[in-house]
Amino acid sequence: MLINGQWIQTTQTFAVTNPATGEVLESVADGSASDATAAIDAAHNAMPAWSGTTAHERSAILYRAWQLMLDAKESLALLMTQEQGKPLKAARTEVQYGADFLLWFAEEAKRLYGETIPSARKDQRFMVQHQPVGVVAAITPWNYPVSMITRKLAPALAAGCTVVLKPAEATPLCAMAIVKILVQAGVPDGVVNVVTTSNPAPVGEIFCTDKRVRKLTFTGSTPVGKKLATAAAPQLKRVSMELGGHAPFIVFADADPVHAAKGAALIKFLNTGQACICPNRIYVHETILQPFLDTLKTRVSKLAVGNGQHDGIAIGPLVNQQAIDKVSAQVTDAKNKGATVLTGGTTLSEGDYGHGHFYAPTVLADVTPDMLIYREETFGPVAAVISFNDDDDIIALANDTDYGLAAYIYTQNISTAMRTFEALRFGIIGINDINPTSAAAPFGGMKESGLGREGAREGIAEYLETKLGGLSI
Ligand code: ADP
Repeated sequence: MLINGQWIQTTQTFAVTNPATGEVLESVADGSASDATAAIDAAHNAMPAWSGTTAHERSAILYRAWQLMLDAKESLALLMTQEQGKPLKAARTEVQYGADFLLWFAEEAKRLYGETIPSARKDQRFMVQHQPVGVVAAITPWNYPVSMITRKLAPALAAGCTVVLKPAEATPLCAMAIVKILVQAGVPDGVVNVVTTSNPAPVGEIFCTDKRVRKLTFTGSTPVGKKLATAAAPQLKRVSMELGGHAPFIVFADADPVHAAKGAALIKFLNTGQACICPNRIYVHETILQPFLDTLKTRVSKLAVGNGQHDGIAIGPLVNQQAIDKVSAQVTDAKNKGATVLTGGTTLSEGDYGHGHFYAPTVLADVTPDMLIYREETFGPVAAVISFNDDDDIIALANDTDYGLAAYIYTQNISTAMRTFEALRFGIIGINDINPTSAAAPFGGMKESGLGREGAREGIAEYLETKLGGLSI
């Protein structure tokens, strides 16, 4: 853990394992509620000096961190593959994406413009300034163990906030590697603090109830996000929530089914299906269903599964046994209710697979609304395909979920694209595009997928208060 500039090891530790091999990578400090309080003490004490730095000073530190992170790209990627499981190539992409936030917010730090507003009174002037919200508590997930941290810490630091971070118990090593880079770049003692723990609830409780924390930013599951938002409500703490998704992927009759299927194979199996923007319901117009399924099946059956450190691997392990159990339960339920398994559909446990948590990349056709997979987020490598026809109100079907994070549309018709884009209740929509994410673009969900946006201009506003001055002259 890092508290007030001191690296702390405790007698109580927990093991971090490689999900592909089961091997223990390292044992890390198992922090408690009192460590969380000590971290908040440090962040609180560091707040006046850090918020008193100029935006240019903070920008320079973030810029240095960006350079250091790119220098360390290869070692960070390897650590990520070992700790989280994604293939090396994907890990490099994530390090780059994570670094992008440092650069983006190094730049945005210098553009926290205020405003003057004309008053109706001749003798009055209005001025608006933006100030840091205060101590920020950040809770991050294991699926993107580097970029989900920089996406929060870079704007918080740019805004002039100090931070206490609790990374996911599966991936504390990546978190510490990033924080070491921030320290090396010149972030002063106490400005960023990290509490690692195998037991997140008591630490989360302190983050929500300590009055000195003025903002909670969380990425994770919807149930945990709701719990934290509820616990933060009595103090009216600001919250940002990036939660689960249940993305529709709509392939209209006029789309190119082969192009759409290639896109589906990439985005559905991104991070072994463990991303909140992965499509969970792939709706394909019945007139182009067959070529779509043929291409999807061919592509998916060729995806090589294994230890992400090895060449040519496209699909790494799932995070743990629970994840395997959830995926298996959804596939069994779908099969029992009439879905057709085109490829995959089984746990992989033979040979080297037996040491990790592997599931065969799977394509299910004939998926219907009565199946669990139609309703629940899968977070695994299973593509669920549903056919629709002109009589179905496809927008109503796509919107029929409590989630509202990502959605995808494939069509050649600009009117269909625009109409659907405007009618879908989702925060991020790819139109013939499977990668609508970037440090420059606002990421976030509607409905029960979250509150607030990360990245872009909006990303730093989450860490700022607006202050109005009314001046009589
Ligand atoms: P997932 O199911 O994908 O692991 P979670 O929402 O459980 O997602 O985890 C995301 C983050 O939330 C992790 O850092 C985890 O430790 C943390 N977390 C889980 N439960 C709690 C809790 N009760 N209080 C605070 N943090 C929690």
